[in-house]
Amino acid sequence: MRPFEYERATDVAHAVTLVAERPNARFLGGGTNLVDLVRRGVETPDSLVDVTGLPLAAVEEIAGGGLRVGAVVTNADLAHHPLVRTHYPLLSQAVLAGASGQLRAMATVGGNLLQRTRCPYFTDLTTACNKREPGSGCAAREGFTRYAAVLGASEHCVAVHPSDMAVALAALDARVELTSSTGVREVAVTDLYRLPGETPRIETVLSPGELITAVVLPAPPAGRSRYRKVRDRASYAFALVSVAAVLAVEDGRITTARLALGGVAPKPWRAAAAESLLFGAEPTAEAFAAAIDAELADAKPLPGNEFKLDLTRRTVVAVLRRLHDEGATA
Ligand SMILES: Cc1cc2nc3c(=O)[nH]c(=O)nc-3n(C[C@H](O)[C@H](O)[C@H](O)COP(=O)(O)OP(=O)(O)OC[C@H]3O[C@@H](n4cnc5c(N)ncnc54)[C@H](O)[C@@H]3O)c2cc1C
Ligand code: SF4
Repeated sequence: MRPFEYERATDVAHAVTLVAERPNARFLGGGTNLVDLVRRGVETPDSLVDVTGLPLAAVEEIAGGGLRVGAVVTNADLAHHPLVRTHYPLLSQAVLAGASGQLRAMATVGGNLLQRTRCPYFTDLTTACNKREPGSGCAAREGFTRYAAVLGASEHCVAVHPSDMAVALAALDARVELTSSTGVREVAVTDLYRLPGETPRIETVLSPGELITAVVLPAPPAGRSRYRKVRDRASYAFALVSVAAVLAVEDGRITTARLALGGVAPKPWRAAAAESLLFGAEPTAEAFAAAIDAELADAKPLPGNEFKLDLTRRTVVAVLRRLHDEGATA
């Protein structure tokens, strides 16, 4: 491992200045992803600026009925917060579906959103990877594709984004507050991430040195919600496919339909085509299947991950059916 400097930031302006001043510096949250990557030589920062001491560890109610979640709130504190459990159960379920108890106790909200892909070739320095080394190629396309993307990928990179939290936040229309030396701005969580195109190394719209300071949740949507994650092991495994769904039905018609997919794309995938077909439809299994089929119409599976299409379809239909059945019997 290469030596690096470590500094603990005392306030947001200090953190932003420290990273802006040092071109090869990184913010350090819980370190559960970044430190692994430094150990493996995938990330080679000269300097780490620890942000966990910043006054960004609160979950607060905001005007209009939403929540402001500080960027250094741990995954465990977020998942177990009474307001999150009561009003955003989908988010709590998604966070608890990720990693392990020990990791969630360390990992922060900002770090979770910016964790790097789990594509096995990204961390194997002996293989070609355009994300790690631009122009070197993509070993995954003809390699192990079980976890690779079927939507939104490019010939240059087929890696998926690994965060469960981000998928739930996408379905909840959450926004991310970003702070830099030039000010504060907000972007929708779905707009935080870029598709790989020809430049898979550039994963987000963050400017150099920009710090995630909070996640802002609007008032909870009407209806019932659920996060379901399908994986190779019951715990401690990343998603093959995950679904964050919100459904409300009135007088036999769907009045709210939110759907976000994980494990299938380089970013949390808001299923807009499916949502527009669901809105106003009768809540039948046929309508649910037709909606997700429309979303998957442009999917491009690779040899070895075609199963994800059927798995996504079945998972979406099962989640929506369950939400509808629970609503009908409530
Ligand atoms: C064995 C294992 C299993 C896992 N399983 C899952 C899983 O199933 N689902 C899942 O979602 N996650 C999973 N994770 C990932 C885990 O959730 C992430 O490692 C964790 O959320 C990262 O948070 P952190 O605070 O430790 O980030 P760090 O490792 O500190 O940082 C990650 C990245 O974010 C940047 N960063 C951190 N904070 C900020 C900020 N405020 N602003 C700007 N940049 C910032 C860092 O510079 C770095 O690039 C797993 C991890 C492990 C090790
Ligand atoms: S899929 Fe992306 S991360 Fe994986 S090897 Fe290809 S370029 Fe690298």
